[in-house]
Amino acid sequence: MTYLPSPMPFAGAELDYAEDRRSMEDLKAYLNRKDAKAVLFKDGKPAMSEDGSLMMVHPDKLNGTNVNHPAPLLLGLRGEMPVFAFSLHDSQKLVDEERFQEMRVVAGRMKPDELAIAGRARSLFQWYHHHQFCSACGKKTRAAYAGMYSHCEACKTDHFPRVNPVVIMLILRGDKCLLGRSPGWPEGAFSALAGFISPGESMEEACLRETKEEVGINVTDVQYVFSQPWPFPSQLMMGLICHTKEDKLTVNTKELEAAQWFSKDEVQAVMNKQGDSFMRPPKFTIAHQLLRHWLSQ
Ligand SMILES: [Zn+2]
Repeated sequence: MTYLPSPMPFAGAELDYAEDRRSMEDLKAYLNRKDAKAVLFKDGKPAMSEDGSLMMVHPDKLNGTNVNHPAPLLLGLRGEMPVFAFSLHDSQKLVDEERFQEMRVVAGRMKPDELAIAGRARSLFQWYHHHQFCSACGKKTRAAYAGMYSHCEACKTDHFPRVNPVVIMLILRGDKCLLGRSPGWPEGAFSALAGFISPGESMEEACLRETKEEVGINVTDVQYVFSQPWPFPSQLMMGLICHTKEDKLTVNTKELEAAQWFSKDEVQAVMNKQGDSFMRPPKFTIAHQLLRHWLSQ
């Protein structure tokens, strides 16, 4: 049976974004609910409980705490239960410093639903952190509707949190697939090639261009497989499979350190942790999921 991730890591949060129920009155009511929950972040790192789960506290606990814009940030409703996120300022006593952990480090151990909630919060905080001023007139903006978007009072422009589309492709030649590695990656780590989609370009065109730029080969038969929200900081990874008959690679060393063909048997062994041809991409990446999908076919 063809393998499909369910849910895709970082997707599948059981949250109603409640885009039409975010007035000041709604917000007040949500904050007063006994079952309201808030996840805590600092410098893009989620606070984790000692048992390894995502820490959740009642928003009341934040009283008197310095938090970053936007606050409160309503991630959504789970049934009736509101789920907020707060990004703490420096030197807070609310949570021990060591409870804030790098998301890439803890992602592999997090439950799918917690991963999706934390990913949504991380992307939103990063966007707000870099968009505190209006890009049209330069004045300070404020968050509207509990963080749904940002509004400039001076020129009346609304700014919506941005998602950047990226193509990530598994390039196949017969029973081999092409993987590459970027400078600075852990030794032996290889993954699928990827690149940002440029304005005026389709997903398929971006796949052809990026492949040509990075490894000098032409690909055809681009097929969309599945996508993933990626909160580092806020990409939509569009997972593709494409084909080529060319085997000679011209690696663009400005973008990649190396690229290499791996046979299905080699990849299978690595994915099953029985081979060491390369270090497999972590489970929470779409590259890992694309490889699993390919092996299942
Ligand atoms: Zn403005």
